[in-house]
Amino acid sequence: MNNEQHRVASFQAAALHLDFMLTGPTLIDGKLYNASMQQNPLQLPAITLEKLTALTESWGMPHYRAKQVIQWRNRGILNPVDMLNIPGELRERLSSSLICEPLKLVQRQCSTDGTRKYLFMLTSGRLKGKMVESVYIPEEKRGTVCISSQVGCVLDCPFCHTGTQNFEGNLSSGEIVAQVLAVKHDLLKEPLAPELNSSVTHVVYMGMGEPLANEEGVHESLSSLTDPDGLKLSKRRITLSTSGLVPQIDRLGEVASVNLAISLHAAENRLRDELVPINRKHPLQELRQCLNRYSLGKQRHITLEYVMLDGINDRPEDIELLAGFVNRDRERVNLISFNTYPGSSYTGSSKQHMNEFAKQLISKGIRATVRRSRGQDIMAACGQLKAERKAENREP
Ligand code: SF4
Repeated sequence: MNNEQHRVASFQAAALHLDFMLTGPTLIDGKLYNASMQQNPLQLPAITLEKLTALTESWGMPHYRAKQVIQWRNRGILNPVDMLNIPGELRERLSSSLICEPLKLVQRQCSTDGTRKYLFMLTSGRLKGKMVESVYIPEEKRGTVCISSQVGCVLDCPFCHTGTQNFEGNLSSGEIVAQVLAVKHDLLKEPLAPELNSSVTHVVYMGMGEPLANEEGVHESLSSLTDPDGLKLSKRRITLSTSGLVPQIDRLGEVASVNLAISLHAAENRLRDELVPINRKHPLQELRQCLNRYSLGKQRHITLEYVMLDGINDRPEDIELLAGFVNRDRERVNLISFNTYPGSSYTGSSKQHMNEFAKQLISKGIRATVRRSRGQDIMAACGQLKAERKAENREP
């Protein structure tokens, strides 16, 4: 039997066995595809234990084999060759039937404060060769991975570096989860100094892209991250940041009410129409009602992110406007300093002005904080590493 016949036979066996056959995976170029994501073959980073068990059993392997593979996967080891306790035949089957490593590390930068910034290249599918960024931000007791959900961004916020880059496509759930796994693997190989956390305790969807413009990939990645057989992250430890796509926020609340952060940046429609153009479609009044409906667990709140731009949204009247918008019982304001980049026409407010702005908000009963800037020496704002690479003409 040649390789192709072997794969077809595997697929036919799997077809009899898998309960997810109801949605009908298809064999294309030797890889198994889910019906819901015909363009993306099954990827090891996001596959469930149930699916992998059905698949490995269809290959004639005992059911515990899938569990062994998942245990390696959950530690960030994705290359079957490195899965030491599984037989050679299973390694080959995994490599030939699934996309095991959807990302390749291209560059890593380490800040003096422990922050690590990663540039990954996608290894397969329509976006093969494109790059995305992720960041690991360590603290004493927690370690947060900031992940990307798109290559570029569909939206066009004028102050945002990612917004200036062309939108090239949505990441699949496997490509999203693989960023978390790659960071885990890196920390396993090279832990940080003992006073800093070297594990992934929190995940934020705040990297490149608008996560809710990629609902399929993001919803599936959320179920993988919270899967008891997967990374087992609690919803309380995951935060999704959106510019305010109202129907999508409602749907997120129904399927996975993770922590929500809103890129607010202005509390009046005229200015927000300019800074966050999606506001023209979903203005502040609509966003207000949507945030009031979003389901929050005990002691949870919505974060309103506010990048402070000198002379644009840091005026005295902006304090009044914010005070009129914020729901004090359910929301807090996070003031963010602007990371400038070549070609940007904006400058950030001074540190002193940001502190004063925060004080004024607090005096009005609003929980407001100034976000501590991390990884300044490696410019850890999304899109910058990718742009630098492109400017140096090193993007493949
Ligand atoms: S701020 Fe967010 S939504 Fe706006 S362009 Fe940047 S990545 Fe996209």
